[in-house]
Amino acid sequence: MTRNKEDYIKEIYKLGGAEQQVNNKQIAEILNVSPASVTEMLGKLQKEELIVYEPYKGTKLTEEGMKAAVTLLRGHRLWEVFLIEHLGYTWSEAHEDAERLEHVAPARLIDRLEKYLDYPAFCPHGNAIPQADGKMRIPKLKSLVEMQAGESSTIRRVTEENDLMDYLQELGIHIGSKVVVEEFGACEGPVTIRVDNTQKQLSYKAAGMVYVDEK
Ligand SMILES: [Zn+2]
Repeated sequence: MTRNKEDYIKEIYKLGGAEQQVNNKQIAEILNVSPASVTEMLGKLQKEELIVYEPYKGTKLTEEGMKAAVTLLRGHRLWEVFLIEHLGYTWSEAHEDAERLEHVAPARLIDRLEKYLDYPAFCPHGNAIPQADGKMRIPKLKSLVEMQAGESSTIRRVTEENDLMDYLQELGIHIGSKVVVEEFGACEGPVTIRVDNTQKQLSYKAAGMVYVDEK
């Protein structure tokens, strides 16, 4: 499969395409391509039986498409663990280079990498890493903006967007940090939080992309 096709399959999966139909607009937005190229590519993927595409309804992954997506995510997330733990990468650097490595590493290498890293369950950004059989543990989370002022929880995941990850890392936000939401600014203003006993302010938009334990 070409890298481009693999990226489609992976993004469709991340948009929920294993369980439900994903619409073309969502795919175009996330991959930053025109609706026409999405339609064209979906035709190709359908021919290869990786997806089922119904015009005006959307796209769902076939069993084979799902397997391909899970394999890509598994490689991506294991590489991220390696790059951060062993090569001192930042969050965004690791995400960027894992985007390349996921397309070239054979399954044997990924299995050995997983063993070497001692079977991590989550990537450094908090996303679940699928096991070789495709199983993964997905915890129930909610975003910081779904919390109440005064509520405390633990940071478990951040959205993998490079600018956001750099911003959060500069602020000293870590996966596993204890967090208390102290105050929400009026009209979706800045959110004041306390992380590991230091007060910080986060834009409302960024706070919506940081996830904590649901309870
Ligand atoms: Zn990650």
